[in-house]
Amino acid sequence: DAPARESQRSLLEVMKTAMNFYRRELKTSPRAIGYLKKRGLSGEIAARFGIGYAPDGWQALQAVFPKYDEPALAEAGMVISNEAGRRYDRFRDRIMFPILDGKGNVIAFGGRILDAGEPKYLNSPETPLFEKGRELYGLPQARVAIRETGTVIVVEGYMDVVALAQFGVGNAVATLGTATTPTHVQKLLRQADHLVFCFDGDKAGRKAARRALEASLPQLADDKLVSFLFLPEEHDPDSFVRANGAQAFQDAAKNATPLGRFLLDTLAEDCDLATAEGRAKMVFVAKEMIPKISAPVLRLQLIRELAFAAQLSPEEVTSALGLAQAERS
Ligand code: ATP
Ligand code: MN
Ligand code: MN
Ligand code: MN
Repeated sequence: DAPARESQRSLLEVMKTAMNFYRRELKTSPRAIGYLKKRGLSGEIAARFGIGYAPDGWQALQAVFPKYDEPALAEAGMVISNEAGRRYDRFRDRIMFPILDGKGNVIAFGGRILDAGEPKYLNSPETPLFEKGRELYGLPQARVAIRETGTVIVVEGYMDVVALAQFGVGNAVATLGTATTPTHVQKLLRQADHLVFCFDGDKAGRKAARRALEASLPQLADDKLVSFLFLPEEHDPDSFVRANGAQAFQDAAKNATPLGRFLLDTLAEDCDLATAEGRAKMVFVAKEMIPKISAPVLRLQLIRELAFAAQLSPEEVTSALGLAQAERS
């Protein structure tokens, strides 16, 4: 309806004005520029991603806006009111990463602290503009490279996207501190035939890969390839590309583990396949995963491999998974 559209537009204008303010502030902050330089970012790449700096002050952003924009600033998640009714800027003394929607509108921000401190990243809250679990950081900037390569790389962090882009790997996007959702996967597989998940080599990254695996199952198609690039324990994509270069990253992405392999490895992981009990458990756990696969032929292939590992026939596995025996795809 018209009033809702009207308020939506002013939220978008608030966000755009905020981004431009942060970008101007970056230019006059040697500390923030120094931080980005220390992280190896060029001015060109910072400009391409609209990276800025939120100065250290409780009302620095608010001072840019006329009084009548106060409600919009609050609704956009940029200003917080405390119990005493005092309003203060959400983002203070942080490097600011604008999050854009498909049309290039600024819908949210992620802010990184410059030094040590908690939280390292602060993101916009959910607002009428920003629904977490739908949006991907860097998607508008990555669109051309995704089309040219037919591939999209999904990473965890802002810095991963920006560093990869600086090294010429322009087809990376990031989930925003949230788990990968089926909506993310659906969105990305509409634009690319090959989806590579590349999370950090640490424990959190491996957990994120498992969540991404589960989110992918209902979005798979037999003409698409989803794969997983596991980095060495100490690396994330940012540090890996800086240490080893773009070619090494591209090679690793090309040799990423296909989803089917990862799924079977995951299933076998906690089971002792030398025992009947271990093999039974593997099929039991598979019941939560394989029926969710939306690619019919891949599902048949994995049933066959699972049957081999479990020392059963594909027919026996099919029925153990609760799938119809005579299923035709
Ligand atoms: P950097 O390289 O700047 O240290 P990173 O991206 O490697 O950052 P990680 O700790 O690996 O940081 O976290 C990955 C991503 O998860 C971040 O980029 C951010 O989007 C999100 N994230 C991390 N910590 C937080 C937090 N405290 N609150 C919200 N999101 C976070
Ligand atoms: Mn990490
Ligand atoms: Mn990092
Ligand atoms: Mn990281």
